[in-house]
Amino acid sequence: MSIRTRLTIWYTSLLAISLLVFGALIYSLLAGILTSVMDDRLAGQAQDVIGLIQNENDPVAVMLSGRVQLPSIDVFASQYFIQIVQADGEPVQLSENLQGQRLPMPDGIAGDIANGRTHAYTIDASGGVRLRVASVPFVVARRPVGAVLVAQSLTDLDAALTVVRSALLIGALTSLLLAAVGGVILARAALRPIQAITTTARQITQAQDLSQRIPVAVPNDEVGRLTSTINDMLARLETLFQAQQRLVADVSHELRTPLTTIQGNLDLLRRGAAADPAMRGDALRAIGDETARMRRMVNDLLLLAQADAGLKLRLEPVELDTLLLEVYRQTQVLASSVTVRLGAEDQATVMGDQDRLRQLLLNLVDNAMKYTPAGGTVTLGLSRRDGWAQVAVSDTGMGIAAEDLPHIFERFYRADRSRGRSGGSGLGLPIAGWIAQAHGGRIEVTSQMGQGSIFTMWLPELTADEGRRTNEQMGYSS
Ligand code: ADP
Repeated sequence: MSIRTRLTIWYTSLLAISLLVFGALIYSLLAGILTSVMDDRLAGQAQDVIGLIQNENDPVAVMLSGRVQLPSIDVFASQYFIQIVQADGEPVQLSENLQGQRLPMPDGIAGDIANGRTHAYTIDASGGVRLRVASVPFVVARRPVGAVLVAQSLTDLDAALTVVRSALLIGALTSLLLAAVGGVILARAALRPIQAITTTARQITQAQDLSQRIPVAVPNDEVGRLTSTINDMLARLETLFQAQQRLVADVSHELRTPLTTIQGNLDLLRRGAAADPAMRGDALRAIGDETARMRRMVNDLLLLAQADAGLKLRLEPVELDTLLLEVYRQTQVLASSVTVRLGAEDQATVMGDQDRLRQLLLNLVDNAMKYTPAGGTVTLGLSRRDGWAQVAVSDTGMGIAAEDLPHIFERFYRADRSRGRSGGSGLGLPIAGWIAQAHGGRIEVTSQMGQGSIFTMWLPELTADEGRRTNEQMGYSS
């Protein structure tokens, strides 16, 4: 069931209940007031008759004779029926228009007469007529001697109340109908923007086009805010989707080269190269190299995927100077035509993951050596500035073009792709960038084409106080 229908049903039901309660209240109040006015009038008539009885009877004579003279009551009986009863409730006189029929009386009328209590009640008379009766007791010579009953037909009052009832019913039904129609129209108008959202969202799904956006009619109302939120979500989804598509394209592209090389060498072996030891050695070496490259790439991709999923680092105090020296020593054992040397050597400790930081520095140094022509120099330096430790890897290499600089930390981006250099996969710097960020730091690059590049890693330094606290937490003692 649609929200519009549900809203209308709720709204109309609530209105129906309130109209019912309101109508019933009005009706019963009106009926009560009209009946009480009628009761007063009937009692007034009875009082007139009683006045006449009391005028016509001398209390002493009544006392002596014990008889009460009754007046002629038919003068009162134009629209009223009158009946006089004695103290035990037995009728002693009926108005002529009663045509001999007695007015029924409630039980215990004798008690009411003795107590002088007035009584009003409704009876169903013959012919389907309802009568309202007032019974008013009267006293002669200080003795309660009987009661005068005055009755009147309720036909007029019932007719008036029927009109009121019909008017209330018709009014209520009309209001309900108007409210239901108005409710449907209002609900439709209020929910129209949501319909627009649904239609656009469906179009986006059907066309598989995440670049579409939902138009925002009123930016600051509830629906406007919902639309903006959905648009933001679409923008985010679009970015993620494009990144994912690019990643799949890049991964397949990167894997194709080594796979082609492996396939080619296998074909070569199959076609007889296996018999020639030199050719076999070359083919196997090429297969081994490409397999290693693919493994490196898959490992890098896995690490980046874990980084995206929020991989946690194992943080501990790391002495950067010691780590840098270790990396430097590692480069010395590599046979390279590039000289690696140590520059500024400060001392700094950071909170970090030793293995990841080593991986970061090795990535930077490896790049510097890779992109520096033979005879060039790579310099490693460590300095401190304003609570930051700075590790700089500078080279005298080919440099990076200004248009490439903003992209080199993107996955699979390689500035030298066109220059035909191979070996890397364009994942080294994204990993280095992630490691620096995960440590609360960053990597800055300055470069000059043909002159060289400087990659500087900034990490927040561990102060002496923090270091002591961390050592205590880890159970070390100094
Ligand atoms: P790769 O595996 O290709 O080295 P990286 O992510 O490590 O991938 O680097 C991305 C690109 O940035 C490299 O392809 C290269 O074009 C450029 N680059 C990185 N370091 C240097 C450097 N020291 N000198 C010149 N270019 C560099």
